[in-house]
Amino acid sequence: MFGHLPWQQPRSVAGRPCVRDDGVELTYAEFDARIAAFAEQLAEAGFGRGHVLAVMLPNRVELLVALFAAWRLGGAATPVNPVFTASEADHQIADSGAVVVVNQGPDAPTGGRPVIHVGDMRTTVTGAPVAPVALRPDDLALLIYTSGSTGRPKGVMLDHANAEAMSSTMAAHFALTERDHCLLVLPLFHVNAIMVSALASFRSGGQLSIVGSFSASRFFDQVERLRPTYFSAVPTIYALLASLPEHVRPDTSSLRFVVCGAAPVSAELLDRCEERFGFTMVEGYGLTEGTCASACNPVDGVRKLGTVGPALPGQRIEIRGGDGAAVPAGQVGEVVISGPTVMRGYLNQPDATAETLVDGWLRTGDVGRLDEDGYLTIVDRVKDMIIRGGENIYPKEIEAVLTAVPGVLEAAVVGRPDPVLGESPVAYVSLYPDARVSDEDLLEHCRRHLTRVKVPERIEILDGLPKNPVGKTDKPTLRRSLQPQPV
Ligand code: ATP
Repeated sequence: MFGHLPWQQPRSVAGRPCVRDDGVELTYAEFDARIAAFAEQLAEAGFGRGHVLAVMLPNRVELLVALFAAWRLGGAATPVNPVFTASEADHQIADSGAVVVVNQGPDAPTGGRPVIHVGDMRTTVTGAPVAPVALRPDDLALLIYTSGSTGRPKGVMLDHANAEAMSSTMAAHFALTERDHCLLVLPLFHVNAIMVSALASFRSGGQLSIVGSFSASRFFDQVERLRPTYFSAVPTIYALLASLPEHVRPDTSSLRFVVCGAAPVSAELLDRCEERFGFTMVEGYGLTEGTCASACNPVDGVRKLGTVGPALPGQRIEIRGGDGAAVPAGQVGEVVISGPTVMRGYLNQPDATAETLVDGWLRTGDVGRLDEDGYLTIVDRVKDMIIRGGENIYPKEIEAVLTAVPGVLEAAVVGRPDPVLGESPVAYVSLYPDARVSDEDLLEHCRRHLTRVKVPERIEILDGLPKNPVGKTDKPTLRRSLQPQPV
């Protein structure tokens, strides 16, 4: 199946369940036929080798059909966040050089390009199917735009070698087989959903079930009804699940494991979810520029809580000091990665590419340390570090102290500009529904567990922390709210 892609599926999977959503359920053969049909329509619209297709759809089967159809014709795809405003979507469509756009309907942005509405996507081949273009490993497969938390969104160029390396690594790491069934909950405009959920599942001959928008109150009903064997999610989703009323005790016996990644997660939240829901959670780490995961705890081997696990096979992780040299185990420095999953670069941004890809190593901008066994701990992001009176403060350390307080669900610490000290930490906290904790209790707790310079100048309790489109805590928004207001 998918003969034009460099995949070896376990055996013929043609008649097996492949992918489903609320509207459609397809076997591998049916999925392949839908891809061929849409490829024909795309080719008629002038799409061909080397072109980019912009796909602005919510999670649904057609989004995956569009991606694979672009690949069948030797092109690449850029998934666009379906809730983007016209100006956000136009930026991505223009920057990516997309020649055709697939979107939801007449009201959706088009970036001024020819458009195919999802309802008009062809589902049956009318003549002989378009022959798949033979792909080279260095053909561009995906342009994934970063969330922009570090500035203007950048298009990360991932080729088929990247996608092949990542999906095969994930499939091997989780020992996926055709008996596996993945529940897809994360948005498909992000690498995690494409690589860990969709491509790893397809190459293993397994089944993928796409749930519409995530809802904590409905989620476990879906797990009980569909009986998936795994899913991958971000800490925010686990935080929402952990906040469900105590009497919710779902049957999760179908789940072999669940993955948590893409953002820092507190040890308390991992523990609480494992204990309450009875599933095995593995934490992984990675970034779009590394095609998704670079380190991950094993499902069956030694899992170390608080770490994101060892480097995945085929990848190397080093910790570099300020002079650019690798530091020994136990020491803190910048995390750098090399291997076949490292991106080709940022589209149209040679300077940003040169800063990020240095001598074949990907500079992650994350601060971390490796232990003697090669397990990685993410200390924080370089760019989130707060400098108070010349002292470096890692917000994650303060956040860990806060989330250790019973009743605290999530915490985010950001720097407020301070004319004298440079910056000063401010903490935002959300609580479990049943919690009885005040900001004063939390400050007192910080004073007991942190040196003075790290104690937040104030702590605000919010109903929930703001999140970016992929569900990560939106620190830039919190930071902006602390900027001095013009008078
Ligand atoms: P931008 O690149 O615009 O800032 P982004 O950071 O959201 O957007 P992603 O590629 O989605 O882009 O995120 C990668 C980052 O997420 C990593 O560099 C790291 O800081 C963080 N991250 C991922 N997994 C973990 C984890 N398990 N623990 C802590 N941080 C993590």
